[in-house]
Amino acid sequence: MTGSCLSKRYKIITLGCKVNQCETASIQERFASEDFQPTEDSLEADIIIVNTCIVTQRASYQSRQAIRRAIKENPSAKIAVVGCYPQVFPEELKRIEGIHLLAGNTDKVGIVDILINSDPDPLNSGHVRGTGEKNHFDTAPAKRFMERTRAFLKIQDGCDSFCSYCIVPYARGPIKSMKQDYVTKAIATFSEEGYKEIVLTGIHLGKYGKELTGKSELVSLLKLIAKQAPPLRVRLSSLEPGEISDELIHMVATEPWLCRHFHIPLQSGDKEILKRMNRHYTPDDYERLVIRIHEAIPDAAIGADIITGFPGEDERAFNNGYSLIEDLPISYLHVFPFSPRKGTPAAGFKGQVDTAIIKERAQKLRELGKNKKNLFYRSFIGKDVTLLAEGWESEQEKTIKGLTDNYIKVVAHSEKLVRNEFIRVTAERVHRDYLFGKIKCD
Ligand code: SF4
Repeated sequence: MTGSCLSKRYKIITLGCKVNQCETASIQERFASEDFQPTEDSLEADIIIVNTCIVTQRASYQSRQAIRRAIKENPSAKIAVVGCYPQVFPEELKRIEGIHLLAGNTDKVGIVDILINSDPDPLNSGHVRGTGEKNHFDTAPAKRFMERTRAFLKIQDGCDSFCSYCIVPYARGPIKSMKQDYVTKAIATFSEEGYKEIVLTGIHLGKYGKELTGKSELVSLLKLIAKQAPPLRVRLSSLEPGEISDELIHMVATEPWLCRHFHIPLQSGDKEILKRMNRHYTPDDYERLVIRIHEAIPDAAIGADIITGFPGEDERAFNNGYSLIEDLPISYLHVFPFSPRKGTPAAGFKGQVDTAIIKERAQKLRELGKNKKNLFYRSFIGKDVTLLAEGWESEQEKTIKGLTDNYIKVVAHSEKLVRNEFIRVTAERVHRDYLFGKIKCD
């Protein structure tokens, strides 16, 4: 592995969240700077990296499957397994024959250097460090993403909330944030690269900068970005209910570059279940927040996550959540059927709910989510919306697709290909799961 790397090829398989995808993009850039070429074909790859996820038991299973498949497809490639899985459960992975290197999240970004400066033998070289050892933010932002119109910028890592069902704090360690001037520089670079949208992302974005000053610095960061008057739009990923201040709502309402989009995990609409989840707000707090946002920004997209079947969730608790969402101006819903995650307190809680009931409840919530989204989309019929065009939806049918700042998927007729441009569309109808419209001045 040492020596000339000119003709070397690598493949990265990424599972899980946007943060993982950002980190994969950084690894890709590091490989590029060493003249490695990317490949999708395992057989061609000298190195295969599996960037793992363990957020659910299923995600762990899929990570193991991806590792086994990579080993089978190319037994002579160097196989490195990185991220949350080796960080939390290295012993499970050491049982898989054919892995050369394990690296937790602490070493993820440096994995390329580790690989080219050493020649790891099939495991038991187990290079795994704890999450707490390094407490500084060290992911260099990637400059290029596969998706040409949107870039994801990881500005925060780690979580100290310890929700009782969540493995993430064990995998990601304490809070750490990218320095403000790095963020503004990265935004300027993305803009020079031609991106028109940047998604600021993190494991617990609302705690951005908290390790430095004891309070969230997200709003102060956004104020700094505002001074740049960025010629692109900025979207915030998920924010916890207690972390959306009036000041932030005001900024989203008044700064045209800031997307009118809030994704606010609810997780349960029942007070007692929220307590058992170790989440520090009540359904009333959530309700007040959503109404505050809706009153200030009526066209804002407000999305929610909900877990159903958490231990102790009886019919009454489920219905509390269902009716809360039904009554609120929520625009879309992500539903997660609860499954016990080994290594978290909730896995051992009494009152585990029968899987068939969880399935049924998840189905009801998904239906509700579909209706909420439909209602939200319908409210734009007859209005003009601005979308960032992503290219063809169907070249044959001459339709292009794109996303509005308030998270509406729009499709419109277009004779020519339009990509990475903001266009105005008059919304005509809701079709399938998108808003269909006509381009203005086509
Ligand atoms: S806030 Fe809760 S759910 Fe989100 S990453 Fe932290 S512990 Fe997990």
